[in-house]
Amino acid sequence: MNKRDLFRVWGHILRGSPPFLSIEITRECPLRCPGCYAYEPEHLGQIGPLRTLADYKGQELIDRMLSLVHRQRPVHISIVGGEPLVRFRELDVLLPCLSEMGIEVLLVTSAVREIPRDWNRIKDLHIAVSIDGLQPEHDRRRAPATYERILKNIEGHAIRVHCTVTRQMASHPNAFEEFLSFWSSQPEVRKIWISLFTPQVGADDEETLSPSERAAVLEELARLRPAFPKLRLPDPVLDGLSHPPQSPDECLFARTTVSVTADLHSRITPCQLGGSPDCSRCGCAASAVIKAVSDHRLLGIVPVKSLYDLSERVGKIVSKMPGNSFSP
Ligand code: SF4
Ligand code: SF4
Repeated sequence: MNKRDLFRVWGHILRGSPPFLSIEITRECPLRCPGCYAYEPEHLGQIGPLRTLADYKGQELIDRMLSLVHRQRPVHISIVGGEPLVRFRELDVLLPCLSEMGIEVLLVTSAVREIPRDWNRIKDLHIAVSIDGLQPEHDRRRAPATYERILKNIEGHAIRVHCTVTRQMASHPNAFEEFLSFWSSQPEVRKIWISLFTPQVGADDEETLSPSERAAVLEELARLRPAFPKLRLPDPVLDGLSHPPQSPDECLFARTTVSVTADLHSRITPCQLGGSPDCSRCGCAASAVIKAVSDHRLLGIVPVKSLYDLSERVGKIVSKMPGNSFSP
């Protein structure tokens, strides 16, 4: 995102329209990853489980998605799932259209099937491949999207690796050094992003890190950073992961992003995770990045967050004016 995009983001806030859009493009996924938030029963609340939702295919999906995007005109779209590549034919049409509209897109995939080669020529398309730990653990959790298959399916692309750290990964000696070493040496990998597993309120999943494990993971990653430049974990983001927002109201990521599920209408709240995520144990990299930006002081004086709060208040007034309301 460049300076021009930041002004566009601010313009959206002043109009009372969230600048970021996240879309669960399909309810389908051939994987059954333990700890997957999308298929937790509470993910969509009253709407019901994601797999029971009516979603769209073919031209209808293309038309409905473009209509949603035209209504909101976001600066950035995250396309998640389910598994987005299940709809690769529709994405073949949609992704170039979004690029022509000047919208930056992040496609998050398991790389369970080949990523079409032509996509590497689409401007402002970023592909993040979810890889959860070293090969034995990852292959057990994410088959059929195994290491072997991912390496084949990302050939010819420039991808981001996104790793969600679980307790299982953290308990393996040297896991992070081995992980960073393996993926940094792959020519297709441009950046490595790290998130920490985020549980629901009151949940005690085996993936959840204890506070001391969490602190140890962040300390270890900070130690490894100089040796692995592809790891993108600057100090403010580490700080955001160490001190996450305490509620969705404090989370600028949740407040600036509209998350829409596979019926392309219903909202996922309070953030992409849905349900009742435990913000105090949030490990979402995107939330940490936005927190880092919001804690930054403009000219060393005014925190960006204060400016945001003011702009949001203006935006709420503007959005109530005729012709300015957004609804997915
Ligand atoms: S690939 Fe993603 S959506 Fe599918 S089961 Fe795994 S975590 Fe869930
Ligand atoms: S992204 Fe994290 S901090 Fe923000 S609302 Fe979701 S769980 Fe809470």
